[in-house]
Amino acid sequence: IARPPEALIGDLNPQQAEAVQYHGPALLIGAGAGSGKTRVLTRRIAWILTQFGAWPSQILAITFTNKAAAEMRERLSSLIGPVAERMWVSTFHSACVRILRRDGDRIGLKSGFTIYDTADCERLVKLIASDFNFDVKRYTPRQILARISDYKNNLTGAKELLAQYAPDFRPGTRGYHIGRIGNVEELYAVVYAEYEHRLALANAVDFDDLIVRTVELLRTQPDVAAYYHHKFRYILVDEYQDTNHAQYVLIRELAGVDAGEHPSPDARGAGRVGPAWITVVGDSDQSIYAFRGADISNIQDFEKDFPNARTIMLEQNYRSTQTILDAANAVIAHNEGRKPKKLWTSAGKGVPITGYAADTAQLEAHWIAHEIKRLHEEEGVRYSDIAVMYRANAQSRSLEEGLIQAHVPYQLIGGTKFYERREVKDALAYLQAIVNPADAINMRRILNVPKRGLGARAESIVTMYADEHGLTFWEGVEQADRIEGMTTRTLNPLKRFADLMTGLRAFAAEHDGQPSQVVARVLRESGLLDELSKSTDPQDQSRVENLSQLQSVAAEYEQNTPDATLVGFLETTALVADFDQLPDESEDSGKVTLMTLHTAKGLEYPVVFLTGMEQGTFPHSRAMEDASELSEERRLAYVGITRAKRHLYITRAAVRAQWGRSSEMMPSQFLDEIPEGLIDWKRKEAGVERMRAGWGRGSDDDWNATLDEFGDWDDDSMGTTYGGSSYGSSSHGSSSYGSASYGSSSYGSSSRSGSS
Ligand code: ATP
Ligand code: MG
Repeated sequence: IARPPEALIGDLNPQQAEAVQYHGPALLIGAGAGSGKTRVLTRRIAWILTQFGAWPSQILAITFTNKAAAEMRERLSSLIGPVAERMWVSTFHSACVRILRRDGDRIGLKSGFTIYDTADCERLVKLIASDFNFDVKRYTPRQILARISDYKNNLTGAKELLAQYAPDFRPGTRGYHIGRIGNVEELYAVVYAEYEHRLALANAVDFDDLIVRTVELLRTQPDVAAYYHHKFRYILVDEYQDTNHAQYVLIRELAGVDAGEHPSPDARGAGRVGPAWITVVGDSDQSIYAFRGADISNIQDFEKDFPNARTIMLEQNYRSTQTILDAANAVIAHNEGRKPKKLWTSAGKGVPITGYAADTAQLEAHWIAHEIKRLHEEEGVRYSDIAVMYRANAQSRSLEEGLIQAHVPYQLIGGTKFYERREVKDALAYLQAIVNPADAINMRRILNVPKRGLGARAESIVTMYADEHGLTFWEGVEQADRIEGMTTRTLNPLKRFADLMTGLRAFAAEHDGQPSQVVARVLRESGLLDELSKSTDPQDQSRVENLSQLQSVAAEYEQNTPDATLVGFLETTALVADFDQLPDESEDSGKVTLMTLHTAKGLEYPVVFLTGMEQGTFPHSRAMEDASELSEERRLAYVGITRAKRHLYITRAAVRAQWGRSSEMMPSQFLDEIPEGLIDWKRKEAGVERMRAGWGRGSDDDWNATLDEFGDWDDDSMGTTYGGSSYGSSSHGSSSYGSASYGSSSYGSSSRSGSS
């Protein structure tokens, strides 16, 4: 490691350089977005190795994602060479796996323990529910798991909850009756305790356990703790604002903050003692994971928690133009109770923010796709330098379609593509099974989705019978009562399933021209929707939104297709999905990146599109009545804005489809919080405002004008995605047009054909 110190600090500003070199036990680098926190953290690691003389094995660096860890390790390799490969640069979870794999047997985890994923955990809760006889419709596994996760993030053990709420319960014993129905706390405590018991029997842990069990290991096994106290002399944590309580405690335990004396970092062998030196880096304005237990006070209280802590603020931003920073500063300034900080840059004002208000979400997507194409073709911007961000996964669907139709290559990060999402696939599987009863794959997929007591055993009994008699799987289901040796516990749900499908098929036959009605019926009667909408897990909320989107897609298809059929609808969805998977044949190897704002944390792109800037979309509807949730949404807006290096776009739609209906969307309050002069609106009014302004009162000429704004799109793409009859028609003079007849989906084809 022969690297002159100048190489590590020569290109840094004085505050950054000071942070890199700081020689002391606790350092907080608190700073705004793009000020070089991650860069400083990386350089500091190199500094510690080269200037403090630490060994790579003495350093533990924690990042928020595996991707960030890989990036940091790569930077380190280029700074200090291959030793970086052997260092502990990882997320909390992978560091803990490593620790537990080594010494987990000390707390009863046999080597080779299993890590359960969410589906496994749900199955476990389901099993418990059936043994304890409580209603999983009322208390869904997801809801229960969310609560268990909260307990774990706060290091609340099942034992203390039992003592309080169910002192008579012994995990692993049958016959306990969860008494006083309505006493949710008792239920949670009992299920939590039983869940832990069965995890232990299975030699398994869930995701949160990785942290919790590591804390337990360090707290109960002094020799193991001592091992790590001696091993890790420097602990560095990026994105500290998003740590939860368990992670906070873990850092303290690993560092030996409360354990007293052990060798000090700067005096290896010299006999001085003390806990590991801690460096944390974060920005309380970017705390966006409260819903997963992140505790913003971890960063706010750092100076209290770690005596003699030094705080260094970085204010110069190296990522964005002044225009982008002014917008970010202005928005975040609306949050109360924060320490004001001002980001500045020497990069100059740059180009204005570009704003665009579309009439509908589809038109928003089309405009974005078109603009991306223009940037690429006329300004030579690489696709890989462009990111499109949105608040909720469900929004990606229209954006993906817009990009597909404009032939813009893209990749979706941190989420399955819309039609590959589990819940969407489940719903489509119902439709396929309705249309084609012989389709055994889809039929079997939904046999027990949502769970209806038809597990693997039931499935195999039917399969065997069908095979024996040369029937399709569905015919086997229909003849279930002829199958020998079938218990009523299997027979009854099988019959109900057969009735469900027969009923749905009859409905579909009667409503063949209205696939959206069939989708609605399927979602409701199958129980798919019920299961998800009862959950309090944010992920399930977004699954519900995806199903709502699917219904909207069907409504759209219906309105744009003169001879709509269910089969036709299924074809279009299959084509979009298939198109996704075609190899990228464009001359540019890069792809536009699509992701949620949460996923975008820590990343940067020359061009960023912030989409769906509407009240109810962003900020999310749940945040609009809750001050603390609204603050978190605003921090998310701050994160989004500050991802952009050169050019920020903000877009919104005046109408967005929800549940196959179109709702009028007001502009996001965050738009008002950006100083007017910073935004160059390509189109500022949309929907009703535009009509009120006397524009577009429903004549074909006005409609032509709208089409003109979208210039050179080929007719095919327009025909299938919009076209419009009811927009601007006389019935929509007033503000209430959230009716089913209006909107994104009802840019029907009639006036378009009239105009062409
Ligand atoms: P975030 O809050 O979004 O995580 P951050 O504070 O971690 O941001 P970095 O990602 O480290 O910021 O840095 C932002 C950009 O500025 C990066 O491209 C980085 O390389 C660059 N940068 C940081 N400091 C300097 C500097 N002194 N000179 C030149 N470029 C710099
Ligand atoms: Mg960073």
